Amino acid sequence: MNKTLKTNIKEAKLAIKNAEYIIIGGGSGLSSAAGVEYSGKRFTENFSPFIKKYGLTDMYSSGFYPFPTQEERWAYWAKHIYVNRFELGATNLYKDLFQLVKEKEYFVITTNVDSQFEKSGFPNEKVFEVQGNYGYLQCAKRCHDNVYYNETLVREMIDQTEDCKIPSNLVPKCPICGGNMDPHLRINENFVQNEEWYQSHQLYNQFLQNTEGKKIAFLEMGVGFNTPGIIRYPFEQMTYQNNHATLIRFNRAHPVGIKENKDKTIVFMQDIQDIVSAIMT
Ligand SMILES: [Zn+2]
Repeated sequence: MNKTLKTNIKEAKLAIKNAEYIIIGGGSGLSSAAGVEYSGKRFTENFSPFIKKYGLTDMYSSGFYPFPTQEERWAYWAKHIYVNRFELGATNLYKDLFQLVKEKEYFVITTNVDSQFEKSGFPNEKVFEVQGNYGYLQCAKRCHDNVYYNETLVREMIDQTEDCKIPSNLVPKCPICGGNMDPHLRINENFVQNEEWYQSHQLYNQFLQNTEGKKIAFLEMGVGFNTPGIIRYPFEQMTYQNNHATLIRFNRAHPVGIKENKDKTIVFMQDIQDIVSAIMT
């Protein structure tokens, strides 16, 4: 281990130890680092009939594939939701993260939709899932603001999938308008922000208010540039505004932030699991 990395780990450890408040920002890179990968073997092993039939290349782009019928679309999505949300238990990296912060005052904001934080012990009321969750459906037109837990339906769809199609009677329809349903994910402007979403948002804002001027450590983990306005920019701004804040950034692709925060930022470009393990020892 080189000297800079050693120093960075020591400093991150100290910042977390001394922090009165910890805020974790979890992006897609965090789940990939935890093993929830959307391409490679995990994709080819689970989706071979779909790859053969539609030429799909990975789970990210497949989410946007224009399946010709709802029966085909839901055959794909049931599998996608199942492998990422229901089949998978808590991963080691998320479990480690929970051990790292569980004795502290903390809050999680995440763009991830796979429930890994909850599965690993983080209580619901401390996790704000901004972009939705695989485990729910919503009306595609957002004619109303309910979301519907989909585990039973998803399992049934998988059991009854034949030739990349589910039977028509399993295609979910909106109980109010009778139209198509979508997974509860922010894929367009019709994303449902229900009461629970607003409650979560409020809890997060309250937590942020309590941290003003306090010793705080921001753990920005695997946050890309798809939606920088949700985690990356606010974390940079709050770090800038608070003299007692430290921003601990885990980011391979975009490590450099605003220059004003240079002395308050610790950057890791290495494997997230390796660094978290090192911080914990
Ligand atoms: Zn509807």
